[in-house]
Amino acid sequence: CADATAQLRRSTEMTRLLLIGAPGAGKGTQAEKLAIAFDIPAISTGDIFRHNVKNETELGKQAKAFMDRGEYVPDSLTNDLVRDRLSQADAKDGFLLDGYPRTADQVVELDEILSANGTALDVVVQLTADTDEVVRRLLNRALEQGRADDTEDVIRRRLEVYEEQTAPLINVYAARDLVVTVDGLGEVSEVTGRILEALAARGITAK
Ligand code: ADP
Repeated sequence: CADATAQLRRSTEMTRLLLIGAPGAGKGTQAEKLAIAFDIPAISTGDIFRHNVKNETELGKQAKAFMDRGEYVPDSLTNDLVRDRLSQADAKDGFLLDGYPRTADQVVELDEILSANGTALDVVVQLTADTDEVVRRLLNRALEQGRADDTEDVIRRRLEVYEEQTAPLINVYAARDLVVTVDGLGEVSEVTGRILEALAARGITAK
């Protein structure tokens, strides 16, 4: 009966997903695939910040200094941005968050935003990849895309900040029984398949 209830819930409710994992674990790549599969917007705070930096907005100017050093942009700037983005019409029917929350305060903030809307997260997908592999991928991306924060020193700092501030959040969500852990190594399509399987095992299936 629990299964039937989960399925009924799934068919009537929308999908609210969160992707968490170290820089280079492949969140952005998988977020695009999942957004298509579930027909929900992928919301990446990193992409939103980079867009603002490129367009030299006030937010971009403030964020850039932190991003270039591999530090997190302050919660005071990040939380308002996400609150605003989640209030837009296309996120009403579900969403996939990539790169938020990254700090304990952001978890609290997201809880508040969602509960004010009478909703909550359905699942948190933890994407894993070992440090050697993520450094290799990020250095490779540096060659291909020239992202300002993909230099070796900054990559090292980003990984440190992730371990200090973001990795502990997995336990917070695990205590709520929301976490599925997926191996991020292998072909992109292989990893997408693993994620879809893990979600299906929780009764969350693409439309
Ligand atoms: P990666 O996961 O490879 O580090 P992102 O594109 O997710 O890349 O993030 C790039 C940078 O944007 C981060 O290093 C940080 O400076 C900033 N950023 C993104 N999301 C957040 C967030 N939720 N809180 C604070 N800073 C963030």
